[in-house]
Amino acid sequence: MKIIILGAGMAGLSTARILTQNGHEVTLLDKGRGVGGRMATRKIELAKADHGAQYFSVKSPEFRLFIDELIAQNIISEWQVRQRENVRYIGRTGMNTIPKHMAASLNIRLNEKAVRLHSQSVETESGNQYLFDALISTMPIPQATELFQRSETVLSDKDQHVLASIEYDPCIAVLAMLKTPTAIEGGGLLLENQPVAWIADNFQKGISSVPSVTLHASASYSQAHLEEDLQTVGNDLLASVSDWIVPESIEQVQVHRWRYSLARQRYSHSFYKLEHAPVYLAGDAFGLGNVEGAFLSGLEVGKQFE
Ligand SMILES: Cc1cc2nc3c(=O)[nH]c(=O)nc-3n(C[C@H](O)[C@H](O)[C@H](O)COP(=O)(O)OP(=O)(O)OC[C@H]3O[C@@H](n4cnc5c(N)ncnc54)[C@H](O)[C@@H]3O)c2cc1C
Repeated sequence: MKIIILGAGMAGLSTARILTQNGHEVTLLDKGRGVGGRMATRKIELAKADHGAQYFSVKSPEFRLFIDELIAQNIISEWQVRQRENVRYIGRTGMNTIPKHMAASLNIRLNEKAVRLHSQSVETESGNQYLFDALISTMPIPQATELFQRSETVLSDKDQHVLASIEYDPCIAVLAMLKTPTAIEGGGLLLENQPVAWIADNFQKGISSVPSVTLHASASYSQAHLEEDLQTVGNDLLASVSDWIVPESIEQVQVHRWRYSLARQRYSHSFYKLEHAPVYLAGDAFGLGNVEGAFLSGLEVGKQFE
């Protein structure tokens, strides 16, 4: 079958791998310049910082198999965050190395933003048309909903109910290159009831050759400040954690707005098919709501075409 996948994050790549293995003609389209979606790593001069997903855990045997593949290829390593009981995994040189590994040998078109769906084709911003027998969308659900609204897609009452039931938390992420490493024990710190919910020292984490930190604002702070000037918000967030990051150490700051970070309200099944179109929805909004959930959602929707 000719299958188009929208989104080359964890879910899209996971489904593309199984569909390609099973002999389907698969094309992944992503609006970004690179693969990975929310498994993102950014460079600030010599510094590196994971600015989306920070680490992940493993619960299911299917994801364990994949993790064993990544360990064997030296792509991931273990990371023990002091306040978390179980060991977590990280990309050894950044989270983004995991999607890059998955993307090898897949047919991926980057800088291709889907803007309109027709019954058997998808149109991109650059004016290309891609034909499909089935389409799997792994983009965050509000973005998929916008796409359907601009398209000829007929949504049933149930489809609309499922789409409307899914909700995400936003997250403002601050990346800073520092002159000196922080004193955060183990390199990761979870904070409660404060504007900053998480600090990672990417140097101690082992992904950056020079000191750098990632801050994630709490969901409530992010929601309240989402539309404000990001640089000001970033500076305020850094000032609020001066016990760990001394202002004199800060060299460069970048701030990123994730409108959709973690799927707070999810659909309980691992994917959803629209009632009147060969269009499937998958991603972290289906199931566990994290990196593992996105992987499993992609895998399960892919198995529908065996
Ligand atoms: C700040 C933050 C912290 C997080 N921390 C953790 C963590 O510590 N542990 C954990 O397990 N999870 C964490 N997560 C969640 C985790 O990153 C996600 O659950 C997972 O990566 C989602 O994968 P996905 O494939 O479902 O979606 P995405 O990674 O969002 O992939 C969707 C893709 O769709 C593309 N797209 C969107 N619109 C279009 C369009 N119109 N046309 C074409 N392409 C389009 C996007 O460019 C994107 O690449 C975090 C996320 C964020 C943002």
